Amino acid sequence: MEKIKIAIQKSGRLSEKSLNLLTECGIKVSNGDRKLRTDARNFPMEILFLRDDDIPQYVEQGVADIGILGENEVWEKDKEVDIIEKLGFGNCRLSLAIPKDEQYTNINYFQGKRIATSYPKILSNYFKNKGINVKIEELGGSVEIATGIGLADAIFDIVSTGSTLLMNGLKEAEAIIRSEAVLISNRNLSPAKTVLLEQLLFRIKAYKNGQGKKYVLLNARNEVIPEIVKLLPGMRSPSILPLADEGWSSVHSVISDDDFWEIIDELKRHGAEGILVVPIEKMIQ
Ligand code: ATP
Ligand code: ZN
Repeated sequence: MEKIKIAIQKSGRLSEKSLNLLTECGIKVSNGDRKLRTDARNFPMEILFLRDDDIPQYVEQGVADIGILGENEVWEKDKEVDIIEKLGFGNCRLSLAIPKDEQYTNINYFQGKRIATSYPKILSNYFKNKGINVKIEELGGSVEIATGIGLADAIFDIVSTGSTLLMNGLKEAEAIIRSEAVLISNRNLSPAKTVLLEQLLFRIKAYKNGQGKKYVLLNARNEVIPEIVKLLPGMRSPSILPLADEGWSSVHSVISDDDFWEIIDELKRHGAEGILVVPIEKMIQ
C-alpha cells in the first residue's frame, strides 16, 4: 500500500508540537533513537525528520509529499508548494528592531539603513512594495547580535516575547507579518496519497475544532431555560434533557475558552446549578 511521506522538523521549536499533532490524529510514531525516517505504526505514513529550512524544497520535489513548518519559512523559500491548513501552533511575528536608544518615527526611518536578517526575500519584497531602499545583510542565525557588533543598523527577525531583543539592547520598531505552523503539500500527489492527505486533514480539523472549547453541562429550572439557552451558542443549539426531578432540565452545550468565565458567571446569575465543564478532545462538524 502506498504511504504518504510527511516531513517535520528534526529538532527545534516545532518538533514536539508536530509529533503531538500526529498523536492527536491517532497516528503512532516512535522516534526514540532519533532516526532520519520512521514509519507510523497504524497509518500508511512515513515520517522524515529534517531541518525546517529544507522542507519546502523537499516537498516541491516530492521527496516528501507533505510537511509541517512555519509559514515564515514557506514564504521565504517561495517554492512551488501549497499551504493546506494552518495548524494553530508556532505562532510568532517577524519584526524590524532597532537599538533601543534610537528614536523611531515611521517606516521611512529605514531608508538607506543596513538590516541583518535570515529572511532576505520577505524583507526585500516588503521594502520594494514600500518604495524604500535598504541594504540587506543575510545571516544564517544569531541575527540579534548584528547591531551590537556593528554589522547592521537594524535587524529583521522572529519575535515572540521581545525578551531576546531586550537582552541585546534592541526594541521592536515595526511588526511586519505574523506566522504560524502550517501543513504544506506537493502539487502533484497521486490519487492514493490525496486520499491519505484528506484523511489526515479530517483528523487535524477535528482536533483543531476541539481546541479552545469546553463542553458545559448544567441543571436549571424549566422557567429559566429560555434565558439560559440565549447565553449558550452551541454548535447548532444546546441540547435540553428533562431531569428525573419534576420541573428541572439539564442543558448541554459547547463554549469557547475566550468567553468561558463571563458565560459561567452569567449562567449562575440566571439560576444554573451543578455546572460541569469538560475538555473536548475532538469535534467533528
Ligand atoms: P532548524 O535547525 O530546523 O533549521 P531553526 O533554528 O531554523 O531550526 P527554530 O528556532 O526551531 O528553527 O524555529 C522553527 C520555527 O518556529 C520558526 O521558523 C517559526 O516559524 C517558529 N517560531 C515560533 N516562535 C518562535 C520564536 N520565538 N523564535 C523562533 N522561532 C519561532
Ligand atoms: Zn531553520
